[in-house]
Amino acid sequence: MKTQTPPQTGNVRYLKGVGPKRAFALEKLGIHSVHDLIYFFPRRYEDRSHFKSISEVRPGESATVRGKVLAVKLKPVRRMPIVEVLIGDANGIIPAVWFNQPYLRSHFTAGRDVIVFGKVDLYQGRMQMISPEYEFVDPDEEGIHAGRITPIYPLTEGLFQRSLRSTLKDAVESQLEKIIPRDFLSEAFRQKHQLMELRDAVREMHFPVSFERLEAARQRIIFDEFFLFEITLLKKVENMKTKYCSYALQDIHPWIEEFFQSLPFQLTAGQLQAISEITGDLKKSYPMNRLLMGDVGSGKTVVAALALLLTAKNKYQSAFLVPTEILAEQHYQTLEKLLKPFSVSLGLLTSSTPPQRRERMLAELAQGTLSILIGTHAILRENVRFSCLALVIIDEQHKFGVHQRCQLLNTNPRPHQLVMTATPIPRTLALTLYADLDISVLRELPTGRQPVKTYWITRDKQNQILQHILEKVQQGEQAYFIFPLIEETEKMDLLAAKREFEHLKKKTFAKVSMGLVHGRLSQDERDYVMRSFRKGDISVLVATSVVEVGVDNPNATVMVIENAERFGLSQLHQMRGRIGRGSRPSECFLFGEPKTEEGKRRMRILTKSNDGFLIAEEDLKLRGPGDFWGTRQSGDPMFRIADPIRDYSIFSKAREIAIDLVKRHAINQSEEWNGIKNHLEQFPLHY
Ligand code: ADP
Ligand code: MG
Repeated sequence: MKTQTPPQTGNVRYLKGVGPKRAFALEKLGIHSVHDLIYFFPRRYEDRSHFKSISEVRPGESATVRGKVLAVKLKPVRRMPIVEVLIGDANGIIPAVWFNQPYLRSHFTAGRDVIVFGKVDLYQGRMQMISPEYEFVDPDEEGIHAGRITPIYPLTEGLFQRSLRSTLKDAVESQLEKIIPRDFLSEAFRQKHQLMELRDAVREMHFPVSFERLEAARQRIIFDEFFLFEITLLKKVENMKTKYCSYALQDIHPWIEEFFQSLPFQLTAGQLQAISEITGDLKKSYPMNRLLMGDVGSGKTVVAALALLLTAKNKYQSAFLVPTEILAEQHYQTLEKLLKPFSVSLGLLTSSTPPQRRERMLAELAQGTLSILIGTHAILRENVRFSCLALVIIDEQHKFGVHQRCQLLNTNPRPHQLVMTATPIPRTLALTLYADLDISVLRELPTGRQPVKTYWITRDKQNQILQHILEKVQQGEQAYFIFPLIEETEKMDLLAAKREFEHLKKKTFAKVSMGLVHGRLSQDERDYVMRSFRKGDISVLVATSVVEVGVDNPNATVMVIENAERFGLSQLHQMRGRIGRGSRPSECFLFGEPKTEEGKRRMRILTKSNDGFLIAEEDLKLRGPGDFWGTRQSGDPMFRIADPIRDYSIFSKAREIAIDLVKRHAINQSEEWNGIKNHLEQFPLHY
């Protein structure tokens, strides 16, 4: 959870034992204040609470032993200093050894009581413990490193487990009351919902007395994360309704009828449902905030087209924001066709729009005579002014930053907003990530679509497949070859893609026109190649992954994805969505030799299913939700320890309670509400 650090919670620098050096290392972990520190929770725990008698320990296991220091030796072995400490209990003696840390000798004095935890090994036929964690037993103090359930923290350069643990112990003991003077949830509330007290929970998270208490603590902290998140988003939605007004469309139904009749096909049930939800929103005088989620090819554009039409027919303007120039052109053509019978004015604005046309368009926009503007980032420029902007549609939202989007939306009246995404995500996750948006889903593809047949091809069969593709291409079909480009190895990958391109060109496709696109080309160069491919001048397009963006070429029926094992499931599915758009059957070949079971499973899932939602769910199971966080704007992880998939039951409980509370609060101020409000004022969340 992202919080702003309020100054009153103190800098970690002033904690005992934290100098500038360690403070610097802590900052690398995102810890600036003492508040950040006490909310910096262990990565995992080790149960070092059960002591073994020395006579019971066996080689290969990890054990916690409690005994007395009997003797300490420093002996060099092949020039490396080794500290050997003999530890004995009532039943036996075991040496503990540390390599290259000669200073440890002075820590151990014979006769001291010590707890050691570590791996037991056999060395020259004798058992010993290798570099164990240790803690001297002081009867007055609770131990923290051994002899208990021990927290293991994430580290970074310049930080050590032992010292970080001590810093946390100190912070929890001396600062907790100051940082959390009182629980922001009342006792009655906590009892009702079975939640541990907050300070207790924080303490237990770091230094649990038992696994039961730790679990209860986790439940509380996770609850807080979801609950505060939900409250924040619900308030945001409420603000939208009360603080902003929007143009309410009135003239709707006759146009819907006419639009339906103009289409050459029947709309799917999902499209009809989405249309009814969207028109319901557009009639309201507060802004729509809706996400339209549908797999590639599910027909989002038609739905968008109707919203644009209605807005234009009500004499308002709309903007349709698209991530790339070529997509903008494509949408422009599609919409022009769809809206032709209705004589509404459309404009296309990108950075390559000629200056004269641009000037004319800007003037028409300002006068209100141009109804619909389709374009790229170019429409976000400051000099682009609308006279009555009522609707903003954003296609493939993840290509835009929040800030850029807000420029268009921050006007009064505020435009209705429709975001379209082709990355279907499971409902659970959607509810979290987009809790401030209403969601419409296109679950099924239009009928009559030819599903893409997908095959997993191992190396030995690849030549055969290349021949098969050559035949198809010679019959006039077109093919994509995708080479993965992974960020950290980008240069090498690009070289490999280029080499492979040359190879294919010489060998298999000698008589075929080929094109290559990759991220190092300028936008103009890329668009040029993509256009040639769409026109059919190029038969085989080799790409690094730019096609992910979504260009429509119904004549492309073949796709090869090289090194398919390097892509995630959802990504592969998105790419494959580029084919299967025409009436001819399409084939996708995954070239890959996955080494892991998980990789093989990915290949198998894709060959079996074409359902984007199912695939997203599988993806989530295989990878965990971490990778999906990027789909929300900031890219920062949203929660410290909560995970909406794993902790779904806590999530739905927190969500219900939050909804109920916000509803009740609208009627009467409660004590509950004030505590939460104060807390959020002190630690606001930014989403
Ligand atoms: P996406 O959701 O990926 O943006 P599009 O809107 O581009 O999908 O639609 C893909 C294709 O399906 C387009 O050619 C469109 O005309 C067509 N289409 C949309 N809805 C239907 C439908 N109900 N029946 C048949 N074809 C449809
Ligand atoms: Mg689309």
